[in-house]
Amino acid sequence: MELAGINSRNIANGLYIINQYPKYLQSQYFSAEKIKLIQLKKLEAIVRVAINTVPYYKALNVKINFNNFSQQELLKFPIITKAIIRDNYNSFISEKYFNKKLQYKSTSGSSGQPFKVPKPFYSDGIEQCMMFRAWSMNPAFKYSFHKPCIVLRSFSPKQGEPPYKVDKILNYWYLSPFDINQQNLETYVQFIKKSKAQLLRGYPSSIYILTLLLKENNIKLPQIKTLFTSSENLLPNYRKVIEDYWQMPLIDWYGQNERTVTVQMCEHGNYHNNDEYGIVELDENNQIIATSLNNNIMPLIRYATNDIAIPAINPSCNCGRGLSIPFSGIDGRADDLLIKEDNTIIATVNIYNAMEKFPDVKQFKIIQQKDKSLELYLSENTKLSPEYICNIEKELKQRLGNVRIITKVVEEIERNKNTEKIKSIESHIKL
Ligand SMILES: [Zn+2]
Repeated sequence: MELAGINSRNIANGLYIINQYPKYLQSQYFSAEKIKLIQLKKLEAIVRVAINTVPYYKALNVKINFNNFSQQELLKFPIITKAIIRDNYNSFISEKYFNKKLQYKSTSGSSGQPFKVPKPFYSDGIEQCMMFRAWSMNPAFKYSFHKPCIVLRSFSPKQGEPPYKVDKILNYWYLSPFDINQQNLETYVQFIKKSKAQLLRGYPSSIYILTLLLKENNIKLPQIKTLFTSSENLLPNYRKVIEDYWQMPLIDWYGQNERTVTVQMCEHGNYHNNDEYGIVELDENNQIIATSLNNNIMPLIRYATNDIAIPAINPSCNCGRGLSIPFSGIDGRADDLLIKEDNTIIATVNIYNAMEKFPDVKQFKIIQQKDKSLELYLSENTKLSPEYICNIEKELKQRLGNVRIITKVVEEIERNKNTEKIKSIESHIKL
C-alpha cells in the first residue's frame, strides 16, 4: 500500500483523501454535461503543460485553439505508443521537473518492457479516491477509511508462514491467492468471519476459485456486501459463476500502472469512466487510447494502452451516474490458470507480479505441461546469468511449489500468428 509509511507527501495525500473523497462520491452523480465541463477544464490545463513545457510536445508544434477549446483539440495530438515513450523518455518529462527528485510508478504487463511514469504530488490520493468510490459502487455497501476489507491478492506467504495476515493500520485482511484449496477452506472462512469485512477484493480468478470451493462445500458468507475485482481480464464465465453464487453484482475495475484512465463497473454491470481522471478513446482496432488529466510531470496524451475494449452497445445506464460509458468490457489477455504442485489453482496475475522483479528479462512465456512441469522461455534485455535464472525459478517455485522447471533463453518470444499477441502463460492441463 503506497500510502503506508509516514512522510510529508503521504500525510498530504491522506488529507487529500479526507477532503476530496466525499466530493468524488457526489460528483459521480452530476449530470453528464456538468462532468464534461469539469473534464474539459482539466484537459485544457494538461494540454497547456504539454505544449509549453514538455520537449516532445513543444517540438511537435501543435496549434491549439484555446479561444474556443473543445475536446476536438485533443485529436490534433498524435497517438503515442510505449515504444515512442521508451525511445524519447526524457523529452516526455516537463522542463519544470528537470533536475528534481521524482517519485515513480513502475509499469509492467504481459508484453514486458517496462518504463517508469513519474507520479505527480497527489497521484496516490487521487488514485485512492477513485478506488474507494469504486468499492462503494454497489449501493449495499459504502467504503470509508478503516472499514475492514478482505484482500485475496497481493500476498505471497513464505515457506512455513500461514496463508493469511492482517494490516492493522489499513484494516486489510489478506488471504493468499496461492493457497485457495479444500485443505485451507475452513481457515479462510473463519478468517473472513473474524474480519467482519463486507468488502471482498481480489483478482477475478482468485475470487472465482474461492467461489467454486464455497459452492462445492455449500458455504455462504452473507456478511459480504460487495465483490470487487481488478488487474486481470474478467472472463464472462468467471463473472457468471461468481454473481450466480453470491447473488450480487460484481464491481470490476480497469486501470493501468501508468495511471492514465480508470474505469469501473457499476451495480448495473456497465463500465463507467472516471471522467475527472482521464479520457478514453477507442482506435479503429478498439484499442484503448488514454489521456491522463492529472499528470503534469509527464503528460500522457493519447497513450496507446495495448488493451483492446469491447465497444459499448448502449452507452447509457439507469444507475443515475453522469460518468460516461466508454466500452462494455475488456478483451484482454485470456491466460490459462496454473496448477500448483498440491493441485491448488492459482491466477496468472501472481506470476506477472513475480516476473516484475526481473528487469533483465525482456519477455517471458510459461507453458505448463500435463505433469505440472513448466517450460519457461525467457528473452533478454541484458544477458541472463545462471544465478539470475536460478532466482527466477526460485520465485516461481515459491508460488507454484516444487514443480520441475525447464528454462530456455530464446532470441524472441513468438507471437500468435492470428491474434498478434503473446500469450505469456499457457496450460495444457484442462480444468
Ligand atoms: Zn451505471
